[in-house]
Amino acid sequence: MRRITLLTNPDICNLKCPLCFLQQRGRSFGMGEMPFETAVAAIQEYEDGLEEVIPSTMGEPLLYSNFSRLLDFCSDRRILLNLTTNGTFPGMWGKPAGYEKLLRACSDIKISGLAFECGDVQGAAFDERTWKENVERLLECRLQLVREGETRLSTVSLQMTLHRKNACRAEEILRWAEAVGVHRIKWNPVVFLSVADRRLVAEYGLEKFDLEELRGRLVSTKLKCGGSLFFEKKLAGCGTAEKEKISECAFRDEIWILPDGSEQNCPNPERRFGNPESERAQCENCVMRG
Ligand code: SF4
Repeated sequence: MRRITLLTNPDICNLKCPLCFLQQRGRSFGMGEMPFETAVAAIQEYEDGLEEVIPSTMGEPLLYSNFSRLLDFCSDRRILLNLTTNGTFPGMWGKPAGYEKLLRACSDIKISGLAFECGDVQGAAFDERTWKENVERLLECRLQLVREGETRLSTVSLQMTLHRKNACRAEEILRWAEAVGVHRIKWNPVVFLSVADRRLVAEYGLEKFDLEELRGRLVSTKLKCGGSLFFEKKLAGCGTAEKEKISECAFRDEIWILPDGSEQNCPNPERRFGNPESERAQCENCVMRG
C-alpha cells in the first residue's frame, strides 16, 4: 500500500463551509475522534511500502487532538504526511515553529480555498486576506529553510473548489498564487451529494459551459494546474481504448480508515456521506474518476 487515509476527526472543524459534505447532508459523521492507538495500528498494518499517510480530509486535521503525536510517529518512520488543511493554522501550527514542523514532515500541504468564503472561525473573522497571509507566511518560512540549505521540504498547493460564486475570481487567485510561489493548484468543480438542498445547488452550481470556459483560462506556465476540472477534457481527447484505461478506478491501491478502525476502499463522497443506493454512488457515475 503506497498510502492510507486516516479519518482522524471528521466532525472537528473550526469552520462551517456550506459546501462541506457534512454540511450538505446536515448531520455529523458521528464516530468521534480516532483514538491514537487506532491510527498507530493502521499505520503498522500497512507500513510495508507505505510512503504517505493522509490525515482526515473531512474536519480540520490540525485540530485532531493527537495530530502532533501522529506527525512525530510518522516522521520517526520516515513516512510523510500528505496534509489538506483549511488554512486557518490553529494553535501552534500558525507559528513559525509549527510551519517548520509541517514543512519537514509533509510531502505536500494543500490549503483549501473553501475556507475564506465561510466568514468566521469560532467567532473570529477569517477572510480571504487572512487566508492569503497564512499561505504567504508558510511559503516565506519554506523559502527561509531553503536559503538555510534544507533540500527535503513539503511542496505547498492550493485546493480550490470552483463554484458559481468564485468562478469569476479564479484567474485572479491563480495569478496571486503564481506571484507568491505556490507549487500547484488543484481546481475541483463543486460536487453535490444527491441529498443536498436544491437551493444550495442553485446558489453554487456551475453549468457545463462554465467548466469549458474555466478549463481554457485556468492554466499556467509557472505552476502546475490539475484537479477534476480537467478530467472530462482528458476523457474527451482520447480514443475508446484509452478512455477505458483511464476510467478504471484510480483508488484500487488505497485504503481509508474510519475513526473506529474499520476500512473502506472507495472515497466516492456519495457512498460515504450521501446515499449509497443512489446513481451517483455507482462507479460509472463517479466524480472521482479521471
Ligand atoms: S465509486 Fe469511484 S472511487 Fe469508488 S470504486 Fe467506483 S470508481 Fe472507484
